[in-house]
Amino acid sequence: MKLAIVSPCYNESEVLPASVKRLTDLMNDLIAKQKISQDSFILFVNDGSHDNTWELITRFFTTNPYVRGINLSANMGHQQAIMAGMMTIKDRCDAVITIDADLQDDLAAIEEMIDRHAEGYDIVYGVKVSRCADPFLKRHAALTFYKLQQRLGVKSVYNHADFRLLSRCALEQLSHFKERNLYLRGIIPLLGHKSTTVDDVISPRVAGHSKYTLCKMLSLAVDGITSFSTKPITLIIGVGFFFMFISLLMTIYVVYSYCKHLTVPGWASLMLSMWFIGSVILFAIGIVGQYIGKIYIEVKNRPLYHIDTFLYDEGDEKKNQK
Ligand code: UDP
Ligand code: MG
Repeated sequence: MKLAIVSPCYNESEVLPASVKRLTDLMNDLIAKQKISQDSFILFVNDGSHDNTWELITRFFTTNPYVRGINLSANMGHQQAIMAGMMTIKDRCDAVITIDADLQDDLAAIEEMIDRHAEGYDIVYGVKVSRCADPFLKRHAALTFYKLQQRLGVKSVYNHADFRLLSRCALEQLSHFKERNLYLRGIIPLLGHKSTTVDDVISPRVAGHSKYTLCKMLSLAVDGITSFSTKPITLIIGVGFFFMFISLLMTIYVVYSYCKHLTVPGWASLMLSMWFIGSVILFAIGIVGQYIGKIYIEVKNRPLYHIDTFLYDEGDEKKNQK
């Protein structure tokens, strides 16, 4: 089995040398055990880094027999970088494993993924069994998000990020998904292939710091819900019905107080309800706007990524294709 390990890198120069060493040891081990073929490789996707990540990848490409590299022309984002890597090598391997460049995921799980693939599984998800390495807030925010997704009917694997194996066949299927608002954790369960999970024990970063800013995380979370579920719109309709019911009660109350010559509620309550209903309307417009925004982006059908350089060797001769 020819394996490709795809790893997105954004400003990862601090951690890359250690990661290359660990992955090289792993490749040697897997080849010695005859689990993967000798022409298996590691593909680093440089996602528009500002440090010397690409220089390092280029250097490793010339010195390390397993290393290949892709340089994206700008910072496209984690999901796009993974997709760029997978789609570029989908016809050059039998299976691909995606893993973050900081190797926080469990490397021991890779061998297990390969075994599951050999048993006939097309998709093998790495499921986090412990998130102790994540900060308290991030850990709880992530778990709450996974639960919310399930409540909203988004088909996703609980506590799984982007550490997974995909067979060539699954990759081919994935290539037919042309959406721009990319959330792979939601798309891959839609492929419908035979899948299973392996345990993934997360460890702390060995060097560098997290490249997932709060903004990037929130944007991924929004994509994770609005790209797959229309339940928020249904919820708004529910809220609309609820307010209609309240206004009916209010009408009855106003008629009753008019008949009984009771004092009409004054300015304060009027203002309060105006503000309250105004905010509900704005909120509803905001949610509907999310979907319209997505339609707008999909209709434009922009390319998902632009590859600047692709380093790949055919046989003994290493070629640098521009
Ligand atoms: N990453 C990327 N593009 C980005 C942000 C992150 O390719 O815009 C990569 C990053 O280099 C790493 C992976 O995505 O390999 C996950 O990022 P990180 O480890 O910083 O996230 P965390 O583990 O803290 O959630
Ligand atoms: Mg990380």
